[in-house]
Amino acid sequence: MSVVAIADIVAVLACCVAVFNAVRIDVHARAVGRGVKDMIITIGLLLLFISVSNTLEHTGLTGSLDTYEDYAELLFVPLVLGAVYTRVHYQRLDSTRRAEKAIRSEHELLESIVATTPAGIIVADDDGTVRFANDVGERMLAQVRDGQLDLAAIVRSGESAYPRVSIGSDEDPRYVSVRATALTTGPDEPARAVVVLADVTDRVRNEDRVEEYRQGLERAIDLRTGELLEANRQLQYASNAKQQFLAKMSHELRTPLNSIIGFTEIILKGLSGPLTEEQSRQLGMVRVSGQHLLELVNDVLEISRLEAGYSPVSIATVDVCARMAALVESMSGIATISRIALVYTCVGSPVAETDPDKLDQIVRNLVSNALKFTDAGGQVTVSVTSDTDCAVIAVADTGIGIAEEDHERIFEAFQQVEMPDRARPPGTGLGLVICKELCGALGCVLTIESTPNRGSVFTVTVPRQFPGHLVIL
Ligand code: ADP
Repeated sequence: MSVVAIADIVAVLACCVAVFNAVRIDVHARAVGRGVKDMIITIGLLLLFISVSNTLEHTGLTGSLDTYEDYAELLFVPLVLGAVYTRVHYQRLDSTRRAEKAIRSEHELLESIVATTPAGIIVADDDGTVRFANDVGERMLAQVRDGQLDLAAIVRSGESAYPRVSIGSDEDPRYVSVRATALTTGPDEPARAVVVLADVTDRVRNEDRVEEYRQGLERAIDLRTGELLEANRQLQYASNAKQQFLAKMSHELRTPLNSIIGFTEIILKGLSGPLTEEQSRQLGMVRVSGQHLLELVNDVLEISRLEAGYSPVSIATVDVCARMAALVESMSGIATISRIALVYTCVGSPVAETDPDKLDQIVRNLVSNALKFTDAGGQVTVSVTSDTDCAVIAVADTGIGIAEEDHERIFEAFQQVEMPDRARPPGTGLGLVICKELCGALGCVLTIESTPNRGSVFTVTVPRQFPGHLVIL
């Protein structure tokens, strides 16, 4: 082998090493560096090509490469490879440049967010070193009162929320909330966290104000409760006095009235000597007025007792049919005198837990009204029916009836329906009020259906079980 051929082989090897090294040059994707690198590789490849062709020629492996076509044939393949290589590299370079731009704009966005946020953002290490702080963060750090914000302890503890700290002067204190998020760091790096300080002064002041209001309200409630307790005590005292007065008056009023009525009847019967017709007529009026007054006194006292809760219920198991039958029977005399048919019906044998005397009082009032407001020849029917939960007592009459607009009013004290074309039967206007109060005490429901000139039906629905015994689950 000739010396020239050996030199050619050495040149080939040198070119290979040069191209290899050029390919390995790290240019960090910078456009200029990348271009220079590509140029060096291209020159290296050309030199390699020339060396290879010289080697082939001088070792006799090919004929002499003299003509332009010979070189063109040999150059074709490396040139195509070079073009493909360059194209691929520039494509990669372009996408790298675009990715760099996107990262840069994202970075700028984050920077502007961090700079403009009203919160203080601080990145600190576990030894308390501040790695980064935005402007607000720096200001807040400078204003934190001594020892109130231990960044090292916050980073080390790894908690996300901490008690708020106060900043600023004593004259104008401000409060900041503290939150932290741990950052991922390398194995050789210290623990690190982002600490966010937010000014919560307005919220704290509002909370303080709400607390002040609450305490003020509590004081006002305490005061008012005291006043109410005192008022209640006085009411209780007044109520007791009223009850004593009622008990006394009950005796004081009834005794002379009974005596007036009694002696009037004795005189009327002629036991004290003969009477003229006029004297009998006038004494008759005294007796009626006396009875009316006694009825009024009784009703007023009864209402007062009921309203004051001084009429305790006495519950018993009542056979409603039997009880009502006896009551109707006891009133049949008045019905006969008034020439009204008093009819009683009962379906089934309902039993109810209730106060029998108060139930009697309710139904007696209703039957008495029905007889009072029904003309001779009419009919009053008392009927008892039942269902699973209650017994139903209806008192129906064929009397004068009540207009719809008066249905509510007649349950109020001293309310009576106008009767311009007939004489009003005696009455106080308190009977239905007493019925309503009694029904309330027994848990009964009292309803009315009535049509003028056709009659009325008053219905009492009595619960089978006294509501006071109900167990509410
Ligand atoms: P009173 O003592 O006047 O009967 P109530 O309170 O018992 O008092 O009744 C109030 C008014 O309701 C009665 O005055 C009467 O006008 C009317 N009323 C009550 N029951 C009947 C009835 N069954 N038929 C017609 N009117 C009635």
